[in-house]
Amino acid sequence: MKNKTRKYSARKILQVHWRGAKEFHRIAPKFFLSQSCKAAFEAVTPYVTIFFSARIINELAGLRRPEALKYWVILALAVEAGLALTRYGIARWADPIHSLAAYQEDTVPYLKKLFSMDYADVDSQATKEMLNKIRLNESYVGLGFPTIRSMNELLGAFIGILSAITLTISLFTSKVPQESPLAVLNQPLFFVMILALVVGTALLSGYLSGKCWSMQVRLNEEGTQGNNIFGHFMSLGSQRPASVDVRLYEQQEIAAHYFETASTFRHGGGYETKVIKPGSWYDAFGAALSAALTGFIYLFTCLKAWGGAFGVGLVTQYVGAVTALSRNISNLLTSWGQLEGNVEAMELIFEFLDIPNSMYQGSLTTEKRSDRQYEVEFKDVSFRYPNTEAWVLRHVNIRFQVGQRLAVVGENGSGKTTFIKLLCRLYDPTEGQILLNGIDIRKYDYRDYMNIFSVVFQDFQLIAQPLGNNVAGAMDYDRSKVEKALRDAGFGDRLAEMPKGLDTYLYKDLDKEGVEVSGGEAQKIAIARALYKDAPFIILDEPTAALDPLAEAEIYSKFDQIAGDRTAVYISHRLSSCKFCDEIAVFDHGQVVQQGGHEELLSNESGKYHELWHAQAQYYAQKEAEG
Ligand code: ADP
Repeated sequence: MKNKTRKYSARKILQVHWRGAKEFHRIAPKFFLSQSCKAAFEAVTPYVTIFFSARIINELAGLRRPEALKYWVILALAVEAGLALTRYGIARWADPIHSLAAYQEDTVPYLKKLFSMDYADVDSQATKEMLNKIRLNESYVGLGFPTIRSMNELLGAFIGILSAITLTISLFTSKVPQESPLAVLNQPLFFVMILALVVGTALLSGYLSGKCWSMQVRLNEEGTQGNNIFGHFMSLGSQRPASVDVRLYEQQEIAAHYFETASTFRHGGGYETKVIKPGSWYDAFGAALSAALTGFIYLFTCLKAWGGAFGVGLVTQYVGAVTALSRNISNLLTSWGQLEGNVEAMELIFEFLDIPNSMYQGSLTTEKRSDRQYEVEFKDVSFRYPNTEAWVLRHVNIRFQVGQRLAVVGENGSGKTTFIKLLCRLYDPTEGQILLNGIDIRKYDYRDYMNIFSVVFQDFQLIAQPLGNNVAGAMDYDRSKVEKALRDAGFGDRLAEMPKGLDTYLYKDLDKEGVEVSGGEAQKIAIARALYKDAPFIILDEPTAALDPLAEAEIYSKFDQIAGDRTAVYISHRLSSCKFCDEIAVFDHGQVVQQGGHEELLSNESGKYHELWHAQAQYYAQKEAEG
């Protein structure tokens, strides 16, 4: 954290925040316009009150003309009422825009980028660490976009300074009559003194609050770690399945230990000693300074009024304006200091937003062919995950045509899922080519290419949305088609029991009447989702891993009927589930070591398939005997 206090040039600070503001504008297009109007309005209105009070007091203390008093009071009331109404109108317009922006700033820009990035980068450790750091920066002192959101305070402070200067000018141009002994106050020296005091106080209190801020920023690492600890234990306590384990093994004591000893927010911890305690001294000193300034301004203006330079009512105006001037200069400095502290966080955000898409994007269309004549071929494909050394796939050659049933079997870690990830172009092969109808898949338009696949991954996710939306993956969908997909996936009976049919929410996250579905039911919904997409290739990557082998085999063979004329690729480490397939590819340490039909593979007694089959057969025999 050494460079947390690093100084940046004004140009750099402006450059970074100009881009930050442009990015923010993309998230919330009306934000800056609405908030600037609000800030400008808020900055000017206090002076209106000061102005009218001064006029009314002047009249009361001076000529006391009823007509003039009536005039000022009515005008003041009318203007104040108008301002109140305007304030209400601006708030009605600007506040919802502000809340929406504050709500979206920590998700929208990152999600947009994540959805458009190469999957390899989404999945990389470096990206995860970057996102985590961005989040922690935000949650600690609001570094990143939240600071961009507060940039309108700069404008408010600037307008505040201009308004205060306007109201202060006459303090120096109104002279005490020469014959008065107080005429000495007309000396330019007093102007210089007051100016020096105002600017000095502002600089000092701006410096002090900047120091408070940088103390917070310097504690960023410890603070974010503290927040991390809170967040971690919070989720341990409330989220399944961890919360169950925590209870069973009484791990709450570990949580308590961390709160009491490890977090910087503990009693006597870094936050207390390095931020709160010194910060309170700075606050007190800043408050004392501004009280001293106010006292001096009172003395000066009262003496000038006493000497006859202006009416007593203007004393309030000048004191109000001069102290506001000092306060706004100080706010300007504080906001600027915050921008400086925000540079590093913004640069990290830009680094994330600028991750380039390096996967080649072709433009060929896969033309959803009505004859569904597709052929996929892996031609000598080898693959390593980015930034790793080990080959996960090595010289894979495999070809399959539409309508076929292909099984990919092999032990855990043999490369089956990776094979599917390459097929779906989540990654490109490190060596070799994957061809669709003889053309390298990189040459196809990516979205178009993805349209020919439906995949149910092992760790498929359903979302806390209505059942129908989950299956269709869309807000508007064909209800009868969704119902058919659910029935085909074996969810028909359960659907009939759903309280609101397709509109029933899954899980209770967003609807207290949502339905908790079991692992098996969730898997059927995931399969229905794949069927609804009606892609020519349908891939099941061990979505049944939670089920026992016999149940899995039953689902797979039933699925065989459902798949109809589609090409189905089944992935399993359980051989018996896939023995009905036309073609079985046996993976071992990233290589296809055998390929053929079940009987053919089994007859080769020295083959991997034979070995795996016999190793697993005992288990099935035992299960069947039990069943
Ligand atoms: P299977 O589906 O046969 O169980 P996988 O394709 O999931 O096997 O994994 C094959 C190998 O690749 C394993 O050794 C696994 O640790 C490694 N692997 C999987 N995903 C990644 C990743 N994102 N980064 C690095 N290595 C990975």
